[in-house]
Amino acid sequence: MDSQVESTGTHNPVAYIFSEDLVKTSSLLPSNRNRSLLVYSLIHAYELLTTCNDQTSRRFVVVRPRPAGEKELLAYHTHDYLKYAMAQPSDAQNLLIAPQFGLEDDCPKFHGIKDYITHVAGATLTGAAVIRDEASDVAICWDGGRHHAEKARASGFCYVADCVLAILFLKRALPSRLPSRKPRVMYVDLDLHFSDAVSQAFHKPGSATTSQVLTLSIHHAAPGFFPVSPLASLPKVDDPALDPFTLSVPLKAGASAKTFLRIWPIVERIKDIFRPDFVVVQCGVDGLAGDPMATWNWSLGGEGSLGWCIHRIVHEWQGKNLLLGGGGYNTPNAARAWTYLTSVAGGKPLPLDADIPEYSGYLHFKPSFTLDVPAGNMQDQNTEEYLQTIETTYEKILSILHSRMVSQTLQAIV
Ligand SMILES: [Zn+2]
Repeated sequence: MDSQVESTGTHNPVAYIFSEDLVKTSSLLPSNRNRSLLVYSLIHAYELLTTCNDQTSRRFVVVRPRPAGEKELLAYHTHDYLKYAMAQPSDAQNLLIAPQFGLEDDCPKFHGIKDYITHVAGATLTGAAVIRDEASDVAICWDGGRHHAEKARASGFCYVADCVLAILFLKRALPSRLPSRKPRVMYVDLDLHFSDAVSQAFHKPGSATTSQVLTLSIHHAAPGFFPVSPLASLPKVDDPALDPFTLSVPLKAGASAKTFLRIWPIVERIKDIFRPDFVVVQCGVDGLAGDPMATWNWSLGGEGSLGWCIHRIVHEWQGKNLLLGGGGYNTPNAARAWTYLTSVAGGKPLPLDADIPEYSGYLHFKPSFTLDVPAGNMQDQNTEEYLQTIETTYEKILSILHSRMVSQTLQAIV
């Protein structure tokens, strides 16, 4: 995947992946109709992509993606899945085999699905190419982040495994870069739901070796909560199948910035041990207060908030970042959140009490007409005892991860 950079900045500007076709096709997604359009329109209304206010502000470049080709999609998906998913919908034969590929219930086939799959995969791969080719340190693709799509199955509103495709792309070493070792990719998933398909794609149960890819999902977990997966639980240290490169931090209802602030040192210690070259972040916003999921009580600003986490990753961590979207079913709040995160990535966060600019989409943002997504009144059920259990478990996991990484270094020296 090559990237066509529309304009060049002085020093590694933040790449914003956008085209009219991408927004048009992403807006067809049945679970999030017109969300992409509102997100882009709000970012445009704040003039984030065109202003360069002062020297502390990074410049943005708009990078136009092209649709992914079949060969790029086949890097992960099966031929049969693609053939069926991208065919014209609704003849009798199609209806018969739909369940086999998950294309029913929450993942119905829809008009424009072929363009949707190729444009979203192409956009995320373009973002990956931009950071791999060192044109940018940070790439943003809010239309990506489809973390439930499997190799041969659509699931949970996700039809294309763009996160997996991007990770596979980034882990392939460039001859000119990192000559001493293969690149490491860390995947951090902040969506309300567990990143089942991404975690499973790179999971090596019981393996005693190291991995180029580490997946970490922080998500809500409760009996029967989607997606049900054994990997969604807190890892069991004594399990012979433990893979310290497939990690989960399950949280309980009402998770707030306070809880994220408490567990965040674990995330940073994992990063410090793994030392990724690339960090792919799924920034699903369905855990924010006000989402129809009504499960967490996360906020956009302040210590421990989503904005704070993204600031840490983009501005405090080493490694290049690919920021992707994900879930988020309060469309105006998704637009607020991803607009704010775009400004955070650009180095000049918008004030959260900023008025929404008066533009054609203005009325979507009533009644507050401000950018913030504040916490609500839900009680945080992540008790001190539960948080201590997470910390104690991760003390052991981190020790295992550390020993794996050290043994890899020793092997490299030998
Ligand atoms: Zn979700």
